[in-house]
Amino acid sequence: MDIFALTIEQALEGYRAKKFTAVDVVKTCLENVRKYNKEYNVLLTVRDEDELIKEAKSVDYSKPLAGIPVVLKDLFSTNLLRTTGGAKIIDTYVPRYDATVVRKLKESGAIIIGKANEDAWGHGSSGENSDFGPTRNAYNKNHVAGGSSSGSGVAVALGMCLFGTGTDTGGSIRMPAAYNNLVGLKPTYGRVSRYGILAMASSLDTIGHVTKTVGDNALVLSITAGKDPLDATTDTQPVARASFKRSDLKGLKIGVSPEYLAIGKQATPGMDEKLEAVTETALKELEKLGATIVTVNLPNTQPALATYYVLVPSEISSNLGRYDGVRFGHTRETFGGEAKRRMMIGTYALSSGYYDAYYKTGQKVRTLVRTDFTKAFESVDAIFAPVSPYPAPKIGDFSQDPLAVYLSDIYTVPINLAGVAALGLPAGFIGDLPVGIQLIGPQWSEERLYEIGFAYEQETQWYKRKPNIEGSHPSEAHGYI
Ligand code: GLN
Repeated sequence: MDIFALTIEQALEGYRAKKFTAVDVVKTCLENVRKYNKEYNVLLTVRDEDELIKEAKSVDYSKPLAGIPVVLKDLFSTNLLRTTGGAKIIDTYVPRYDATVVRKLKESGAIIIGKANEDAWGHGSSGENSDFGPTRNAYNKNHVAGGSSSGSGVAVALGMCLFGTGTDTGGSIRMPAAYNNLVGLKPTYGRVSRYGILAMASSLDTIGHVTKTVGDNALVLSITAGKDPLDATTDTQPVARASFKRSDLKGLKIGVSPEYLAIGKQATPGMDEKLEAVTETALKELEKLGATIVTVNLPNTQPALATYYVLVPSEISSNLGRYDGVRFGHTRETFGGEAKRRMMIGTYALSSGYYDAYYKTGQKVRTLVRTDFTKAFESVDAIFAPVSPYPAPKIGDFSQDPLAVYLSDIYTVPINLAGVAALGLPAGFIGDLPVGIQLIGPQWSEERLYEIGFAYEQETQWYKRKPNIEGSHPSEAHGYI
């Protein structure tokens, strides 16, 4: 069993065929935690080894995720297991209940290895805003892991688990997936319950998963998605499963927005030329599979980023008000710099006299962004876009310049403003650094996105290329760009 290559689907098959057991898989994951956790700063809390082995020994193999190891972003509340949100202010907080997603994963037989590092409260795109220090990129440890669900991505890439859970308010699942050669879904707003997850910006927060393959991602979503009486924004829409596995894309129309691509070039630093070449190649692959590429317009992309960075801090300033140091956690001085910055901006945007100029205007622009997507989806099945304008930057390169970090979100945040779905997929490499693309679909279109993603994945096989670390295997996928 090669844990770096092993998918959830293969592990379940291996259990069925009695090739190996959950104990073998959990032990291998723990070995990698021991080998790499210190160096890569991936998990903030690791569960007791004896407890994990005991759990693996008593797995009920009839369950859908029986014996599958998972790590949870540290803002998922876990009963009796420390939950920090990547923030020092609650570094000793131990919840007394499970988030709905955690409950569902436990009920389906998944084994929680530990809690993953992240940008504090989910504020960030690189992982460098964690109060516990940045997680390192699995493919080059001098580079960032992508955020905010940084540990959830790197733990999968480094064989510490078979999937990770994350949250995506403006790219936080797609970014670490792209930077670590993984599949990451930002589902439709309301697809997965937010109950028990530390809130960032409640009207944009979505819960999703980071996996090696599209098939694994669809499997996990089919378990975590659905109506939850504890989150009124969840919906009864049926969830995709199985039917998405086809090998061509005949009859599907995929949109490309010139505004979207042009804006990435204007970002500072602008869209990487090599990255442009990778995305062009990806488009050609989709065309080769039978999809028709069509131009669509998303005219309100330009103000979307600014709108996001007004509305999101506004919601953050409200949500972080509950950490007052009275009921739990330390005093408010313990907040890190980025959290303080967002609380200040949000409080300002919501204050009387400025509310109309900033928050209310932002809400109007949000409607325009949403309308752009609705109109575009009248003529296409999905929209193609890069995830980040460049591959993972070096640790420290942008961390002192918050605006530069915000600009890297140019391709991800409009999707959260619109509440639609997007699937991030591995699309190639620049040197040793992975590059991701995303396919954006209308609300509840996850099945269609998996369909396109699956065909693309089977054609390109980028997921087979593993990090170049001790114990891993060289790529079986086709060459470097
Ligand atoms: N990078 C974005 C931000 O810092 C998105 C974060 C997220 O999706 N949690 O707000």
